[in-house]
Amino acid sequence: MLDVAAQNGPLMQRLIDKAAEVIRSGRYILGPEVEAFEREVAKYIGVEHAIGVSSGTDALLVALMALGIGAGDEVITTPFSFFATAGCIARVGAKPVFVDIRPDTFNIDVEQVEASVTERTKAILPVHLFGQACDMRALREIAAKHQLPLIEDAAQAIGTRSPAGPVGGLGAYGCFSFFPSKNLGGFGDGGLVTTNDADLADKARVIRAHGSKPKYYHAVVGGNFRLDALQAALLRVKLPALEGWTSVRRQNADRYDAAFAAARLDPSLLRTPVRRFEGHIYNQYVIRTSQRDALQTNLKRHKIATAIYYPVPLHRQECFAYLGYAVGSLPVAENASEEVLALPIFSGLGEARQARIIDTVIDTFDR
Ligand SMILES: *Cc1c(COP(=O)(O)O)cnc(C)c1O
Repeated sequence: MLDVAAQNGPLMQRLIDKAAEVIRSGRYILGPEVEAFEREVAKYIGVEHAIGVSSGTDALLVALMALGIGAGDEVITTPFSFFATAGCIARVGAKPVFVDIRPDTFNIDVEQVEASVTERTKAILPVHLFGQACDMRALREIAAKHQLPLIEDAAQAIGTRSPAGPVGGLGAYGCFSFFPSKNLGGFGDGGLVTTNDADLADKARVIRAHGSKPKYYHAVVGGNFRLDALQAALLRVKLPALEGWTSVRRQNADRYDAAFAAARLDPSLLRTPVRRFEGHIYNQYVIRTSQRDALQTNLKRHKIATAIYYPVPLHRQECFAYLGYAVGSLPVAENASEEVLALPIFSGLGEARQARIIDTVIDTFDR
């Protein structure tokens, strides 16, 4: 699916030099490398403030804690995402309220959001899934009307643009991840909280370090959500290459789109992902097929890796049984979980390897 080590190859010497520099410096947690990375990545994303944290999951947790969300509160989110999105809502003691997705983009169906707003709703947490922005203009209108903060889960969407502006700065907080499979992958766990509001930035910084301000004085309870200097320093080496990697991902997506369109397969056999907005960064290229098992098995036989994001929608996870969502309650997400298949899209894929994947997919259905 992804060859992370190969991507780091051309940067190897600079990464090693940078790692040695940090090791010699004796500054391992936060410090100047983290501050420099925060400035550089904020500029790249297009936001005022960036706060380096320990993971994308912890970025979500920091955002929820900084907004004071907890027991008795409801947070509206999507059922079709990585577990952390809803997991963090539950971990602060709040209740995830799931709204079904759009069948074309897999993102939250904005038209169904407002019906789920109650007196207990304390935030809306959309996910820019696979690297494509949600309809943020419409979501911002709903949030403003009900005076609710938006938390953008942008873990898969670093550098994603939307008609409303760059993602990560369109609500109260944006949350990013540097997990190795994300478009900007670190050398372990790492994450980022972004905001355009100086007060919210300060709150997130305080939560990141046990709620202490000044040191050893705690007006609020935070946690240890700090980013390591080593991660930040190595991410600084990789950041300038990100835009180039992303444009190769876009070219790979265009190549899949064109080849599959030309094959004129029955749409039940293969539907390519819909690009609703420009500025998609293609963290994943996810097709839909009614013949998923057959396709995945045949690709595996040809040594082509694929992945299913996500096989069980969040409202049907065992740990959320207490929320009482029955089978069929969010049909679009449930149907997607049975049909989606992610094909390799990473920047080091190469034309020859991609051509082989395309041929194998088409052959599977065209025999
Ligand atoms: C990866 C991811 C996260 C969590 O990020 P980690 O850095 O792995 O903790 C959260 N939400 C989404 C949508 C993700 O893809």
